[in-house]
Amino acid sequence: MMTMNETDGVKTTPPAKLNTKILIIEDEDRIRNFLLRGLMYEGYDVESASNGPDGLRLAENFRPDLVLLDIMLPGMDGFEVCRRLRDTTNIPIMMLTAKEAIEDRVSGLDAGADDYLVKPFAFDELQARIRAILRRAPSNPPMILRFGNLELDTGTRQGRRGEFTFDLTIKEYELLDLFMNNPRNVLTRDVIYDRVWGYDFGRDSNIIEVYVRYLRQKTEQDGMNRLIHTVRGVGYVMREEE
Ligand code: CA
Repeated sequence: MMTMNETDGVKTTPPAKLNTKILIIEDEDRIRNFLLRGLMYEGYDVESASNGPDGLRLAENFRPDLVLLDIMLPGMDGFEVCRRLRDTTNIPIMMLTAKEAIEDRVSGLDAGADDYLVKPFAFDELQARIRAILRRAPSNPPMILRFGNLELDTGTRQGRRGEFTFDLTIKEYELLDLFMNNPRNVLTRDVIYDRVWGYDFGRDSNIIEVYVRYLRQKTEQDGMNRLIHTVRGVGYVMREEE
């Protein structure tokens, strides 16, 4: 169905696995930019925030595999950010701090951090610690995402609606996963391209329309009502009714 064709510069075979995603929450521009550039250069998919609340929002939307978290942050400190992340996720967290005080280390681990790195640190050491953390991290335990009577099993990658179950291709799964993690939020075409295809597919292609149609066929069997709605000129939204 899809083939790799590099001769005209258009890659139509999606990468098998999306890149490891790292979120940096650090208020000091110099360090944040240094980390951002360094980790991107190493091939990580990186986002950053300069304060706690922005970091928490990004953690929800970007769904990183690892968070690098500064302790001394304006407004909400890193310990509090760490506790809040821990309330909802088991994502690996590495705390970064200029302080060497033992009580900070203990507080950080108490708040649920997985590791701790004292600034200034060598980039090589950071990378080694990141690899170690990611190796230890449980690869996302399977769960059931639900929206109304629609279920998505992240382990078997099967969908279920009411009485019927259905299989999904890789891209169908990733698209449905995106909708179910953002219920009632309008997802723009750009966001969908970035999250599901992960590179410039050729933005004027109708690939999203095609995949939305596949998902509708699978989720609307037996006369079930529509859950994935078109928002004309913008994108799509998963919600109960128009
Ligand atoms: Ca700081």
